[in-house]
Amino acid sequence: MLPSNLAPLFSSARTLNGVGPRLLTFLRKAIASPSGVDETRIIDLFWHLPNGVIDRRSKPSLAEAKPGTIATFKVRILEHRKPPRGNLKIPYKVICQDDSGTIDLIFFRLRERFVEQQLPLDEVRFISGRVDKYGTQLQMIHPDYIVTPEARSNLPLLEPIYPLTSGLSGKILGKIMHQSLNILPKLPEWLDDKILARHQWPKFVDAIRSLHIPQTPADISSTALARTRLAYDELLANQLALAFVRAHSKQQHGRSISGNGIVRKRLIKTLPFKMTGSQLNAVREIESDLASDKRMLRLLQGDVGSGKTVVALMAIVIAIEVGAQATIMAPTEVLARQHAETISSLSHAIDLDIEILTGREKGGTRQAILERTANGETDVLIGTHTLFRPEVIFNDLALVVIDEQHRFGVHQRQALQAKGHNGSANVLAMTATPIPRTLLMTHYGDLKVSKLTEKPSGRRPIITTLSSLDRLEEIIDAINRAISKGAQVYWVCPLIESSSVSTLSAVEERHKHLTQIFGCQVGLLHGAMASKEKDATMTSFSRNKFKILVSTTVIEVGINVPNASIIVIEHAERFGLAQLHQLRGRVGRGASQSYCILLYKPTLGETAKARLSMMRETEDGFYIAEKDLELRGGGDVLGSKQSGIPGFRIADVPNFEELLKYAHYSAGKIVAENPDLEGPQGQALRTLLQIFECNEATKLFNTV
Ligand code: ADP
Ligand code: MG
Repeated sequence: MLPSNLAPLFSSARTLNGVGPRLLTFLRKAIASPSGVDETRIIDLFWHLPNGVIDRRSKPSLAEAKPGTIATFKVRILEHRKPPRGNLKIPYKVICQDDSGTIDLIFFRLRERFVEQQLPLDEVRFISGRVDKYGTQLQMIHPDYIVTPEARSNLPLLEPIYPLTSGLSGKILGKIMHQSLNILPKLPEWLDDKILARHQWPKFVDAIRSLHIPQTPADISSTALARTRLAYDELLANQLALAFVRAHSKQQHGRSISGNGIVRKRLIKTLPFKMTGSQLNAVREIESDLASDKRMLRLLQGDVGSGKTVVALMAIVIAIEVGAQATIMAPTEVLARQHAETISSLSHAIDLDIEILTGREKGGTRQAILERTANGETDVLIGTHTLFRPEVIFNDLALVVIDEQHRFGVHQRQALQAKGHNGSANVLAMTATPIPRTLLMTHYGDLKVSKLTEKPSGRRPIITTLSSLDRLEEIIDAINRAISKGAQVYWVCPLIESSSVSTLSAVEERHKHLTQIFGCQVGLLHGAMASKEKDATMTSFSRNKFKILVSTTVIEVGINVPNASIIVIEHAERFGLAQLHQLRGRVGRGASQSYCILLYKPTLGETAKARLSMMRETEDGFYIAEKDLELRGGGDVLGSKQSGIPGFRIADVPNFEELLKYAHYSAGKIVAENPDLEGPQGQALRTLLQIFECNEATKLFNTV
């Protein structure tokens, strides 16, 4: 529940005068909202910052006016020259003057009434717009502003320029923005006076106002004090939320589990490979976490193909050695099934009872799985989101493994770990997404991290090539030759955000096209298929019945078909680099040379070219992620659609890292000194958390 003074900020923009369904649609397009928010809210408007200003401060006399500049004049209306009736080519001309000269205001195709009303003969008006010269005569075509002397304050001398979308004009957005700013309530200050004074930061409300009603062009720069303050607020809210979630979970002690190592030894002996040094290291770190009486919360970060599964299996086996259970949660059903297969095959010698539970297990089968899990017969339960459901009960859950952690929310993780013994199962999160250090800090706080840095031996580098879609024929020929030598191919078509219909048709069309050439050896996989069909297709591909798998990015994470050695990615320019890297990681898993063919639509812009070329130069996922962040200023690393720093709306400022460190430090201090957020400062900080929608943390304080 929001306190009543904040409620107006989170109400829909439709509560503003003049905002109807049509305008709402345009606002929705132009202005970012968090996922799950269907209508642009007042608070979303505040975070929609201008990226420039139109400076109307220049107020020369007409004699001094410089053609080609924006200026504001005080003039008297001298004469109206109407165009001849019916002739639309000749504009309506209004001649105005000041003490120094005259200017013609030019209107094309405007209603005469409008001009006559706005510019009555002999009256004084302030006009603002771009000055031009026509022959020797000064003119202004369609002034941006015409106001009476009394209404002068409606003429913004510094007019913010907002990122817009067609249908939404800057003037309309400006008006909406002004209305919104008037709603901004008085808020308690959450930053110390000392901090404000030291940095010369304005008050929160003043900061927002100065970004939308700038007094100088510098007010809207990304280094302006107001902007820095808001960026800091956002980072502080984020760090505070993380700190509280962490402090809260630390209170629950974990159970110390160490096991006797016998099953682990047997497993290692029967593995078809030797674990790499960094795999062994990660296992050691996990062993020591589990042995301690603190609950484990560790992120296992390793590039695609680095062999995370076997590390997770070792952790699982420790739980099994002490007679407890483990669960693995995967983001998709395909991945859940693949984990089950991989783990069964790796663990054949140690006799684990592995069960799968997804949305597909129904009726009696489901009931039986639930029962075996509840009575402890099941050692490892592998599934999807279904695992959160309350009917999933474990006899003794000691370990939760979460694959591709960033796809799940903090509360989902907590729901799962609550199913453990004493409500505090150990958590091992895994991700192949190379999350840059700063993002790790903002999304996980100081969660412990193990990194798999070595590739399992015997892998050859993948050869990556760039090719224009114009050369499709040649590529199909080459693929034909490769297939006749036994290769298998992934063929990925991009997902087009705006219309799921055209997405399907892109992948379906390519499937049709390739089927005409290769016949029934071509499979099709996309998100809208029934899961049974998806499985059947994946199975056929992994059993080499299909030679080509045409798919959307559903194959992105985790799929492991070692015989597939070619991946073609269509419209590669539309993908984030991190995502391309993930996709490319589907190949290069077997003994033969692998290829990644990036098809782009000509012609490619400079940045796009630079980005794709980087894919050709390196296979280092961490490097790619960092570079991508640099080139695009953020991007999709954590699956967020917005540009900028993922998950943040205003913190994307030049001194982001420095502010983040400061916020991290301050959050730690606050949690230590005022753990229950009491007193006026505590209340103010709760407001901060609410304004930045750090719900996970605010839920911990249900008193608010
Ligand atoms: P990811 O980290 O992408 O999840 P997987 O765990 O699926 O990677 O491992 C990819 C492949 O590498 C699997 O076939 C796995 O059996 C194999 N593998 C894992 N570790 C090693 C190793 N040390 N040496 C050789 N192959 C390994
Ligand atoms: Mg994996």
